Amino acid sequence: MATTTAAGTSGYRGRFAPSPTGPLHFGSLVAAVASHADARSAGGQWLLRIEDVDVARARAGASDAILATLERFGFGWDGPVWRQSLRGEAYAEALSRLDALGLVYACACTRRELAGAPLSSIGERIYPGTCRDRALRPAAGIASASRVAWRLRVPATPAGFVDRHYGPQSQDLAVEVGDFVLRRSDGLYAYQLAVVVDDAAQGITDVVRGADLLASTARQVCLQRLLGYPAPRYLHVPVAIDARGDKLSKQTRAPALSGDPLPALLAAWRFLGQAAPADAPGSVAEFWAHAAAHWEPRRLAPAQTLPAPPIFAGQPAAAAQR
Ligand code: GLU
Repeated sequence: MATTTAAGTSGYRGRFAPSPTGPLHFGSLVAAVASHADARSAGGQWLLRIEDVDVARARAGASDAILATLERFGFGWDGPVWRQSLRGEAYAEALSRLDALGLVYACACTRRELAGAPLSSIGERIYPGTCRDRALRPAAGIASASRVAWRLRVPATPAGFVDRHYGPQSQDLAVEVGDFVLRRSDGLYAYQLAVVVDDAAQGITDVVRGADLLASTARQVCLQRLLGYPAPRYLHVPVAIDARGDKLSKQTRAPALSGDPLPALLAAWRFLGQAAPADAPGSVAEFWAHAAAHWEPRRLAPAQTLPAPPIFAGQPAAAAQR
């Protein structure tokens, strides 16, 4: 049977964008499998971007380890790997474009000053707008001013999008988030700006990633509109949590995917609600042929979080419940 793994014939361009803060774990594998299967089942391309914009959090060797794991797991990607740490000029250009539209302002609030600001439903501080009308203009200019953050003056109209799995979403950024940071006071560009600039520059048509990022998407859609970028389609998938209910991450000591790829790929496939192959695949290549031919997003669970299989969750379930 013909498989649909031929890349790049349909105009679909997906991506996987890991942050190199540690090795790949089951949680990141789930997002990678979903985005790869979605791209290949559509006859599309799948691009890879290392999101090391936060150089302070990036760990030496982590991006090489991630690429080696992806290769071992049979992920084939198209084109060169992009690295956000090399993309500062593009982010600066986008920021000054927003500034020219009068949409950016400098913020000198300290963390301490913001500690009393109300928390959003996902536990982020809602910026109260303290510096919005202060008209601070550091002489050094937007790309090199130190000790001030640059924030987006968010529009008063809600930002919405339709998620392919979770349906219509809308967020009133002015109320639920506040003017968010585009460039931090330490000079690093914020994830929200970098991801939008890069998705546009890489011509991404489809973003497939964990549901923990649903709450960031309205910010990204808002920035796309302001910068005149096309909006990709979004498909968020359930996020793997451990026995404590925490998302698998380096902090929760989710184990690296060091074992046999095939059982981990099949576990990720099941986690995504997908039908098990009638004949167990004998190789990673057979798994991917099955995945490209049988990926069905409508089978995803309705929940935004689901427990990871205990062996991938990083802590024995019994110990975690004690
Ligand atoms: N770099 C983000 C992460 O590792 C993913 C961002 C995205 O897919 O937009 O969680």
